[in-house]
Amino acid sequence: MSFKDPVCGKRIHRGKAHITIEYEGVNYFLCCPQCQAQFERSPKSYAKPELGEKARKIQHYPIKQQN
Ligand SMILES: [Zn+2]
Repeated sequence: MSFKDPVCGKRIHRGKAHITIEYEGVNYFLCCPQCQAQFERSPKSYAKPELGEKARKIQHYPIKQQN
């Protein structure tokens, strides 16, 4: 699953993002500290719900078996 960095437009694989920021119920994936700073400076101008992932969505990951 990959998402678009709302600041630079780069595609980012989930888990490889520099940081995930939740803004108004949507998780945004930022690729680097620069994009993070940009986003945090003016989230309103970058936040586009269609680019992120709804924060409330429950992700089901397979449970790793011990031993
Ligand atoms: Zn970026």
